Amino acid sequence: MRLLLVEDDVPLRKRLKASLQKAGFAVDCADNGRDAEYLGMEIDYDVVVLDLGLPEKPGIEVLQSWRQRKRIMPVLVLTARDAWYERVDGFKAGADDYLGKPFHIEELLVRLQVLTRRHLTDTTHQLTVGHYTLNEEKQRLEAGQNTPPVNLTGIEFRLLRYFLLHPGKILSKTRLTDHVYENDADKDSNVIEVYVNHLRKKIGKNYIVTRRGQGYIFQQSEENT
Ligand code: CA
Repeated sequence: MRLLLVEDDVPLRKRLKASLQKAGFAVDCADNGRDAEYLGMEIDYDVVVLDLGLPEKPGIEVLQSWRQRKRIMPVLVLTARDAWYERVDGFKAGADDYLGKPFHIEELLVRLQVLTRRHLTDTTHQLTVGHYTLNEEKQRLEAGQNTPPVNLTGIEFRLLRYFLLHPGKILSKTRLTDHVYENDADKDSNVIEVYVNHLRKKIGKNYIVTRRGQGYIFQQSEENT
């Protein structure tokens, strides 16, 4: 999933970026309101973490501007601790959740998981493939105590999670690349083919169907179509 992190505090931004990447997000960063507004308009993010006190343009105005122009991605707002009026302003401007500083990274990760899930499926159900469940913390597939877990590389995990969150939809290689890699990463959409093949070896070959010239579709049942 592709995430926009807007935070002007340099040490905090670096720390958050590293933790979010480790949790399997492709992270783009902005350190001021104007860049944030532009990126949020141009790029289709799965979720945004937005600090409110920002140089050049306040976070609240950035959020209002996105919502006015029908950008509906889920936004989690970072506020000063106990600043209840900031939370009220944030929700009025279209925030989906908030977190007061300082916070524990684990809480941020759980809230982001709930937000992205709710946004896509209106539920918080677990992500499954056949009899496997995706453990997002350990980034592996599990199927009870008697079956060994299937480990995934970072990219395989990002790719599989994106498929599981968008079942039954045609996903082009470009779209998959956009949501699996960061803005500044060296993107090559042909590499997606290689990773899809790795995934097929791990989960079974018929879950991810190739649509020639269009991309891939993830289907829950492993029937041949
Ligand atoms: Ca700030």
